[in-house]
Amino acid sequence: MLPVIALVGRPNVGKSTLFNRLTRTRDALVADFPGLTRDRQYGIGKLGPQRYVVVDTGGISGGDGVAALMERQVQQAIDEADHLLFLLDARDGVTAGDLDIAASLRRTGKLLTPVVNKIDHLAEALAAAEFHSLGLGDPWLIAATEGRGVAALMEHVCTLL
Ligand code: GDP
Ligand code: MG
Repeated sequence: MLPVIALVGRPNVGKSTLFNRLTRTRDALVADFPGLTRDRQYGIGKLGPQRYVVVDTGGISGGDGVAALMERQVQQAIDEADHLLFLLDARDGVTAGDLDIAASLRRTGKLLTPVVNKIDHLAEALAAAEFHSLGLGDPWLIAATEGRGVAALMEHVCTLL
């Protein structure tokens, strides 16, 4: 079975945009993968050195912290995943919701990569700086809409799978 990568984070940070770029589709792609539940959006990742399953999630509302993270759908996606991509929004900076989500995700013990999206029109160094406060290490910087940084991110992720 292919490795599974789940996209998690607050609503509107760009998870679905990244999903579409990784799977090269614009449509909801619901496929039948053995062992995975079907009420989420799955696709085969085609960007990067190897194939993998990408799971888009509806988003963790944040603010409600752990309770929100336990939302069944997101929790199941996390359980199924080998690797979590934690998406953040460069324009919003670090929000209270992000801090809650970071704490919850850390507790899952899963491989976790912070990804700061929407760095278009922003200075990269500026975009990255405050996200170090999450304590998750250097964030990867991408612009999912134009694809900037996405290939480099997936090369990194694939070395960890
Ligand atoms: P989701 O709720 O996390 O799935 O977020 P979406 O993928 O639906 O994106 C939310 C909004 O952010 C949409 O209007 C996207 O077009 C926009 N967006 C996503 N990625 C980027 C990006 O890299 N740059 C900019 N400027 N906007 C983006
Ligand atoms: Mg979405």
